[in-house]
Amino acid sequence: MELNNKDLFCTKAYVGGEWIGSDNTFNVLNPYDQTVLAQVPDLGRKETVLAIDAAQKAFKEWSHTTSRERANLLRKYADLILEHQQDLARILTCEQGKPIRESLGEIKYGAAFLQWFSEEAPRIYGDIIPSSKEDHRIFVLKQPVGVVAAITPWNFPNAMITRKIAPALAAGCTVVIKPAQDTPISALALAKLAELAGFPKGVLNVITAESPVEIGEELTTNPKIRKLSFTGSTAVGKLLMRQCAGTVKKISLELGGNAPFIVFDDADLPSAVDGAIASKYRNAGQTCICTNRLFVQETVYDDFVTLLKERVSSLAMGSGLVEESNIGPLINAQAVRKVDQLVDSAVQQGAEVVLGGEPSHDLFYKPTIISNVTSTMEITKNEIFGPVMPVIKFGQEQEVIEMANSTNYGLAAYFYGRDISRIWRVAEALDFGIVGVNTGLVSAVEAPFGGIKESGFGKEGSKYGIDDYVNIKYVCVDVNSNI
Ligand code: NAP
Repeated sequence: MELNNKDLFCTKAYVGGEWIGSDNTFNVLNPYDQTVLAQVPDLGRKETVLAIDAAQKAFKEWSHTTSRERANLLRKYADLILEHQQDLARILTCEQGKPIRESLGEIKYGAAFLQWFSEEAPRIYGDIIPSSKEDHRIFVLKQPVGVVAAITPWNFPNAMITRKIAPALAAGCTVVIKPAQDTPISALALAKLAELAGFPKGVLNVITAESPVEIGEELTTNPKIRKLSFTGSTAVGKLLMRQCAGTVKKISLELGGNAPFIVFDDADLPSAVDGAIASKYRNAGQTCICTNRLFVQETVYDDFVTLLKERVSSLAMGSGLVEESNIGPLINAQAVRKVDQLVDSAVQQGAEVVLGGEPSHDLFYKPTIISNVTSTMEITKNEIFGPVMPVIKFGQEQEVIEMANSTNYGLAAYFYGRDISRIWRVAEALDFGIVGVNTGLVSAVEAPFGGIKESGFGKEGSKYGIDDYVNIKYVCVDVNSNI
């Protein structure tokens, strides 16, 4: 791979400030052409314990650094990431497949969390609470929770890591990261830049593995880990939550979604089409906040679908490294099969293919629109995780709110319309952690990202993001004691 700084292409794991290899390795593939990009260490329980112990040892000093020291390091780390953004984006596109423009966007978004939490670190304020007893004074302290385990997915190999480590490090925690097996190189490049920034040994550790089970068990059962932050599927999130129960860890879960996108009849249709495309086809449909069900009011249904088809037809599939590509490959063959099965089953039940509707070549799936979809079809109940837009017709506001809310997920929802009272009504009625009104792009470092229901709990980014990494302690002092 052509990089300006070849040192960023690391193929060893990072434990206790050392780069460690293993006799056992696994291949990291480029999803575009299935070539082997690298072989990285296939680690297990033993190395996980080493990483946890290193993080525990480092916590003793790191948790006592001043917030200003931590802020300065985080800021330096963010600057280094931005300085190397072209290389990091290239690595990301090669191991994940997304278009290079999107990779650059992710790197900047990822760095923004380090910058944001460098600014939050000195503002982890406590409280003084007026006591109900005359002689008592109550002080509230916020202290770092301890060693944090961060388990992250392949769809945002950079930003899903920084979104966790930035508040953790800002609060004074140390971290053991387990990246997805498909995208470990982005995680190791982040570790390299953390080392360059000057974080002390053991503050940040990355362990790589082909199978996550053993590492996951250790991270969720080892009592030295005091907090798990997980981003991934709801099924795995539930499993990890159960595993954490034995040691009652603090947990944050950023899980799957099933986002509705509603177009009301007073919407500006061209902007609604823009929003729908931005929220659906980004990362080839492989994001947790991707539109999964598009509801269009019956009076504008035909016009909207016509406009949408026109725009989606112009999306170009291709290598992520080619500037003009809009849609890259899916992550692996299993993902292509899953998307295709969902489309086939919808068509068998009466949905109509407006565009695409089948795999293309290799791991590509054609940008697809299917209409006449109904809420009983499997495709409206599962996360599609591919470039497929299922369109559902609706009549009345109340009906569409019920359909939109009728899912176990509760991450993101979107709607377009102009009626101001309806905007408030619908925004409040939607059972989701994030609601986009007249926009299909909702992620921002200053906003509290996170879901409800089976999409998880905990907030990432924003002034709330630090809360998941601190314990609240109160100190009650009797000011009249004679001791
Ligand atoms: P996944 O299969 O749940 O994997 C996520 C991470 O968990 C990976 O690192 C994976 O390792 C690891 N893992 C899997 N099984 C494990 C186990 N038994 N013990 C410990 N770790 C385990 O999800 P994915 O397919 O990578 O990612 C897509 C999912 O993430 C979608 O559902 C998407 O909606 C969700 N997501 C949510 C958000 C959010 O903010 N809410 C953001 C992005 C993605 P391996 O890679 O080695 O299997």
